[in-house]
Amino acid sequence: MHTANLLDFDLEGLAVFCERLGEKRFRAVQLFRWIHQRGQAHFHEMSDLAKSLRDKLGTVAHVAALPVLSRQDSIDGTVKWLFDVGNGDAVETVFIPEHDRGTLCISSQAGCAVGCRFCSTGHQGFSRNLTTAEIVAQLWFAEHFLRAKFQTTDRVISNVVMMGMGEPLQNYSALVPALKVMLDDHGYGLSRRRVTVSTSGVVSMMDRLASDCPVALAVSLHAPNDDLRDHLVPLNRKYPLQELLDACARYLPHAPRDFVTLEYCMLAGVNDQPHHADQLIALLRSHGGQGLSCKLNLIPFNPFPDSGLMCSDKEAVAAFAQRLLAAGLVTTVRKTRGDDIDAACGQLAGDVRDRTGASTRMQALRAQATSHVVQWVPPREVRT
Ligand code: SF4
Repeated sequence: MHTANLLDFDLEGLAVFCERLGEKRFRAVQLFRWIHQRGQAHFHEMSDLAKSLRDKLGTVAHVAALPVLSRQDSIDGTVKWLFDVGNGDAVETVFIPEHDRGTLCISSQAGCAVGCRFCSTGHQGFSRNLTTAEIVAQLWFAEHFLRAKFQTTDRVISNVVMMGMGEPLQNYSALVPALKVMLDDHGYGLSRRRVTVSTSGVVSMMDRLASDCPVALAVSLHAPNDDLRDHLVPLNRKYPLQELLDACARYLPHAPRDFVTLEYCMLAGVNDQPHHADQLIALLRSHGGQGLSCKLNLIPFNPFPDSGLMCSDKEAVAAFAQRLLAAGLVTTVRKTRGDDIDAACGQLAGDVRDRTGASTRMQALRAQATSHVVQWVPPREVRT
């Protein structure tokens, strides 16, 4: 019998589900807290729910994590999971610890249809949208796995970035309830400032996100003019730069931060020359008459087979950053993390990158999975 995976619901959705079972709406809060705050997947362990409700839930619902195909731990503390989403597809999730935060990079689609030139996921092609449950399951699993690993009942993941595989705004109807679970005080209680949606520039959905669930926004820019961006980010042909920057400006009054992050992947000889920096400065400072409130994040490109692209050298990145800084643009260079496990930006496709023969590799990974993956057992300690 088909039963509902409760990871599919934000709190409102769970309240409706409870009402349909003939239960009071507030039962949803108890249930939601058990699942997300305590990592409990077994209804019979939810001791403050009436036994009759626990029994009923056991027949109509379940809480299911995604099967883990592999986990890799970098020497710098970065952890990468490969999750099985069925039919030969897998998605990756990466945890990046820093001294003052723990960031989880989450995937929103199996593959991606945008096809950015510098992105290994884009080369893989598009398979399907993830469900809300599959997006939330990445956070649910990672948070409670890491609490068990670090033997803490405190929250480990403080920030979420929707920067894994896929274009989140092309999976909007699943994305928004997932964001609401992350933000809900009865769920993960993350601040809007600490949840970031990264988009390649789906302008129409940026406007909807501003009204439905405004969180921090990052935009993959990567080029200072339409000709180059058409080539690097094909979506630019539909939403060219001026339209994209206009959408950023419309988003800002709703955003939890007073700037938009603009991601710029540094590609040797392609977009990293002094004249590219000058074009970028002119584009951003002239926008709307007063300039766009933004921060530039320069990302060293991680080469992958058949990309035909090279990473800018350190000197070129530093010179590019310096030119932007001298013009008054706030600019940072992203540190690469998890290089030894291919978890750095733009590398999130790994073994599933080449879809030719993907099912053979998936079978091999599944066979390995049972032998070396440490499975997380839901903790029973109640978080205070
Ligand atoms: S960079 Fe993002 S939007 Fe572009 S192909 Fe990769 S996953 Fe898709």
